[in-house]
Amino acid sequence: MITLKEAMSKSKEELAEIRDELFKKAKESGLNAYIGFETHGEGVPILIKDNIQVHGWSITGGSNILQGYIAPYNATVIENMLKNGFAPAGRANMDEFAMGSTTETSFYGPTLNPHDTSRVPGGSSGGSAAAVAGGEAIAALGSDTGGSIRQPAAYCGVVGFKPTYGRVSRFGLAAYASSLDQIGPITQNVEDAAILYDAIKGHDSKDSTSYEFENEPIYGNIDADRKLTIAVIDNYIEVASEDVKKAHDEAIKALEEAGHTIIHKNMSNTKYDIATYYIVATAEAATNLARYDGVRYGRRCENPKNLEDLYFRSRSEGFGEEVKRRILLGNFVLSSGYYDAYYLKAQKVRHLIRDEFKKIFAEADLILSPVAPSVAPKLGELQDPLEMYKSDMYTIAINLAGLPAISLPINKNSDGMPVGLQLIADAFEEKKLFDGASSLERAVAYSK
Ligand code: GLN
Repeated sequence: MITLKEAMSKSKEELAEIRDELFKKAKESGLNAYIGFETHGEGVPILIKDNIQVHGWSITGGSNILQGYIAPYNATVIENMLKNGFAPAGRANMDEFAMGSTTETSFYGPTLNPHDTSRVPGGSSGGSAAAVAGGEAIAALGSDTGGSIRQPAAYCGVVGFKPTYGRVSRFGLAAYASSLDQIGPITQNVEDAAILYDAIKGHDSKDSTSYEFENEPIYGNIDADRKLTIAVIDNYIEVASEDVKKAHDEAIKALEEAGHTIIHKNMSNTKYDIATYYIVATAEAATNLARYDGVRYGRRCENPKNLEDLYFRSRSEGFGEEVKRRILLGNFVLSSGYYDAYYLKAQKVRHLIRDEFKKIFAEADLILSPVAPSVAPKLGELQDPLEMYKSDMYTIAINLAGLPAISLPINKNSDGMPVGLQLIADAFEEKKLFDGASSLERAVAYSK
């Protein structure tokens, strides 16, 4: 399959042909990675997660409640892509409103993992990752609130990059948890991730949390020979599956052979990350989802008796079970009487988590960590919501701290399932992160 870099040198006619072939493959494969085949402009075709606004497209966040909604404008990332020769092509399946880790909560049904169709592709950007891994998209955009770019990338054997909070505009991204969400690329390799990231990033006056920073390109400046100090978190790896431990050992060996220095650290038990994340994320989600009232966007219930009935039934019929669970949880932790005990405490723990990372980055350039505790689970395996939340243990602290991280494939287990690991950098150290990721990619030489 053609890489993003290779696609950049193709003519408009060739690109249109490539796009048509990708669409054809996606329609025939049965992976259910695409939920729409819309196009917008000409250029290198990029698959777009269904929570990013593309003017004139039906954008639904994988939800029933947004059926019939047509995006009236482009998200800033889409505007930036168009300026740089990329063209949105197709909508990627996702967990409803990006809430989930398997893409099974989608209104459109689950996406399948191209490496084993009895397994999930991960989530919530499962459509984006499965399409890139299955040769149905050259590259895709996803969004990462607590791992939704990195974890499906790891489960599908592709590269997923979550930028520092504030690097990429969130204007036009359907908000899940506004203080955690970031848009980023899912690609076939590290270099392609840099190309797409360069195209979408930058300050945006329409997003008040967007940073005004120098905008030097990463692509073309990556130094895979740079020697770095890389921390590994010993107590993190203890609780991972044998497959993940093996990949972790291999990656450490490869990094040492490539001339990097490995240091050993410990971090607080990830159970605090999970509790903190699911308080902060659900609180913000409950607030953000209040806007879907059956009046302003998308689907409305039939024959409402009065205004209250309209709100009640539009939301009851429109939202899926997982989304409702989180609205309930979010409103609970924000309610008077519980606010101090849960929400306020979670904000304090969030600071402690950030400080813990800061301490490690005083000694290390990067951190190497698992992305998920195991390879992709089987469809239907994670029935218990708490079990699903626990599988986010390695990814969510990075969002709570606002840090950049990139997930890349390391090896495959005995069943042929890919195992990915992530490198994490301090805030705004994307250049260093790509230097290290390119080195690791070269050193492990993962083969598809
Ligand atoms: N699995 C996590 C959640 O359900 C993360 C999702 C995401 O990053 N959008 O909240």
